[in-house]
Amino acid sequence: MIPMVDLKAQYADLREEIEQGFTAVLDSAQFILGPNVQALEEEVANYLGTAHAVSCNSGTDALHLALSALGVGPGDEVITTPFTFIATAEAIRYVGATPVFVDIDGQTFNIDLNQVEDAISPRTRAIMPVHLFGQPVDLAALMPLAELHGLMVVEDCAQSFGAAVDGRMTGTFGAAGAYSFFPSKNLGAYGDAGLVVTSDATTAQELRVLRNHGSRERYHHNVIGYNSRLDEIQAMILRAKLSRIDRYNACRRRVAQSYRERLAGVPGIALPHEDGRGRHVYHQYTLLACDRDAIMTALRSANIGCAVYYPVPLHRQPVFRDAYADVSLPMAEKISEHCLSLPIYPELDDQQIMRVAQTIRHAVDA
Ligand SMILES: *Cc1c(COP(=O)(O)O)cnc(C)c1O
Repeated sequence: MIPMVDLKAQYADLREEIEQGFTAVLDSAQFILGPNVQALEEEVANYLGTAHAVSCNSGTDALHLALSALGVGPGDEVITTPFTFIATAEAIRYVGATPVFVDIDGQTFNIDLNQVEDAISPRTRAIMPVHLFGQPVDLAALMPLAELHGLMVVEDCAQSFGAAVDGRMTGTFGAAGAYSFFPSKNLGAYGDAGLVVTSDATTAQELRVLRNHGSRERYHHNVIGYNSRLDEIQAMILRAKLSRIDRYNACRRRVAQSYRERLAGVPGIALPHEDGRGRHVYHQYTLLACDRDAIMTALRSANIGCAVYYPVPLHRQPVFRDAYADVSLPMAEKISEHCLSLPIYPELDDQQIMRVAQTIRHAVDA
């Protein structure tokens, strides 16, 4: 059995440290926004090379709070990709704004930067790029475009912790970067957790107010905020994993390299593309297959995990399809029919990778 992600293997290595940390948190009896949360925020800001990190309940909340803190609201349009997890567009809707979907690039699966300009209207306030599967959007090209049009950039970094462009971390280019620490993400907690980074002190302060019931001073409430605080246990776990994240991401890149070698030349599939400027951190290893069903059937009968991220682009989801009936995004629609993600996690070894590759070769030859 080769799963899509093996959190048990990772825990085996972390067990002692996390058990000790767990006991320490219980002994301290401080459970919400305590010293581990504060230390995590400092360590993440430091690691990513930015001034402020504000933790919260989930990646979805991180996106929502970021848009809210930046003043995006009703009547505004936010340009984003249709090929992402629903939370990207949900956050835009939570603040009363309208997602405007721009088609994707067929090689990187990220928003097609050549089509962004055509989607800008007088109501556009922000662009929300998603660094999908850990592949950074070319921010060196996107940022000047956004600046030219006076638009904010809010980066969805849920899948890109540690990914960089020209050596600078994703999340630190835009007005804010939103991270998810959902358990299966590259940096994952053992429950829901998220975080926003920003270089702007006012935005950071606004985020702190919003995540804690709109309160600057205890029991004094200036705005309607949210209960979106991080707890000490998740923060402690994230700190333990943050100290290993470079190794985890290096292992993911090694797995991807190994897949690239072992799947080279297989007919009917296209391996993930990497452009030279960005450091891809392979949250997913996603290829394109002419006959996806045949490969999936073979993998499943060999007890190998696989998954389709994402089978339906957002503009075709039941919740959005009426509002976007006139919108056609042919590349996202095509990719969603052929994309296939293979198992990837830091502990995946060469023998397992060989088994996955052999199974795919046999399925394609059959
Ligand atoms: C996981 C994810 C989110 C949401 O994060 P949660 O922590 O699950 O709320 C948002 N955007 C993308 C691209 C994601 O993959």
